[in-house]
Amino acid sequence: MFGIWGHDNAAQMAYYGLHALQHRGQEAAGICTVHDDHLLVEKGEGLVNDVFHGDRLNKLPGRSAIGHVRYTTEGGRGIENVQPLVFRSTTGSLAIAHNGNVTNASDLKRHLERQGSIFQSTSDTEVLAHLIKKNISYPQNERLKKALAQLQGAFAFVLLTEDALYVAQDPNGMRPLSLGCIGGETWVVASETSAFDLIGAETVRSVEPGELVIIDDKGIRSDRFAPKANRAICSMEYIYFSRPDSDIDGINIHMARKRLGKRLAQEVRIEADVVTGVPDSSISAAIGFAEESGIPYEMGLIKNRYVGRTFIQPSQELRERGVKMKLSPVRQVVEGKRVVMVDDSIVRGTTSRRIVKMLRDAGAKEVHVAISAPPLIAPCFYGVDISTDSDLIATGRTPEEICELIGADSLQFLSAEGLVEAVGRNDEDPNRGHCLGCFTGNYPTNIFADTKLPHEKERV
Ligand code: AMP
Ligand code: SF4
Repeated sequence: MFGIWGHDNAAQMAYYGLHALQHRGQEAAGICTVHDDHLLVEKGEGLVNDVFHGDRLNKLPGRSAIGHVRYTTEGGRGIENVQPLVFRSTTGSLAIAHNGNVTNASDLKRHLERQGSIFQSTSDTEVLAHLIKKNISYPQNERLKKALAQLQGAFAFVLLTEDALYVAQDPNGMRPLSLGCIGGETWVVASETSAFDLIGAETVRSVEPGELVIIDDKGIRSDRFAPKANRAICSMEYIYFSRPDSDIDGINIHMARKRLGKRLAQEVRIEADVVTGVPDSSISAAIGFAEESGIPYEMGLIKNRYVGRTFIQPSQELRERGVKMKLSPVRQVVEGKRVVMVDDSIVRGTTSRRIVKMLRDAGAKEVHVAISAPPLIAPCFYGVDISTDSDLIATGRTPEEICELIGADSLQFLSAEGLVEAVGRNDEDPNRGHCLGCFTGNYPTNIFADTKLPHEKERV
């Protein structure tokens, strides 16, 4: 997600911002601006470059914009679900972009439908628009606060109206969301600070849990729709999701991953000749592992940079092929060697199994897999596509069993304490906590017995 208020080239800035956030979603992209008191929107399926080619950006004049890149975990893949979602009404229009997953969306939707709401999309994001429009007699800020207070789960929102840009973060602050500023007067907001560097913005601070930030021509104000709960930032942001040059709450992702690799090397002992990482997401951890263990780091695998992230491919068959197209071994590095292959996580096991085989085929004598995260054993309800227990190779299996399935000589995981300590948020401060739900099965918000996983929810 990206948002900007008060810039002559708002759409262009959003385009650059989305570019720097492209790794967060590659299925669709969209930008909405305000011009002459009207919301204008352009969106489509594909990468930012594919959607905004030719003169499409020129159709988006205006001094404020929000943008979104999509990776589907909730709602179908249809164009009606591509964000920003725009709602037009005689009482004022509204555009919304959302990161995360509202866990009580089905209940709220059912309730709203009984009261006459008709939904245009199957996305959980639309629920917020209906809730905002319900209490029409209240001032806009109050309506927004009342609506946000009804949501549960993980949600970071940017909302654009004719008069203001609103930014909200769930009470546990589960998804990253940062505020930045260009030249002391133009305010920007983005899921990751990587979007700021490209547009010359300075990072100001993270949006606080339960906070509603209002940005308009009068400036910036902070309000609150919920008291702060214990902070539970998604651990997978540090492990895998975010870009290495981004910072979350002042902690740089590359440095955090290096510390994860170092900690892993302290926790396990592996006799080997060379350490290699899986490009791109585990390179930082592999460097940390090599530094700490004293085993030299080498580029044992290279990536074809023109193939997208494998995990984001919708079917298992496509994912399997994706891994093969994406990575190749460097024979001269691994031949005759005992190799430690560091990866950031094992989800279904497809990547590890393929890479172990690839390294052996290239002549590796031994392949030891070291994962810079604990085993993923439980689903994510908060907007990361780790959806069913049965998909997860580590659910109900010991590391030895998983090791056999992926065909490695040994397999080691980082401990949960190691993860928290190495990231470095753990200073006894409730504002600096992690979500560890998918590693432990203990979730930071109420996941009721009838809470449905995103893919099981009814489609309207
Ligand atoms: P798998 O092949 O299913 O075991 O997936 C593991 C690979 O996917 C790892 O190399 C990670 O870099 C990457 N990965 C882990 N979690 C996610 C996620 N939530 N979304 C996309 N990719 C992921
Ligand atoms: Fe992140 Fe896992 Fe928590 Fe989901 S359950 S928010 S992936 S740490």
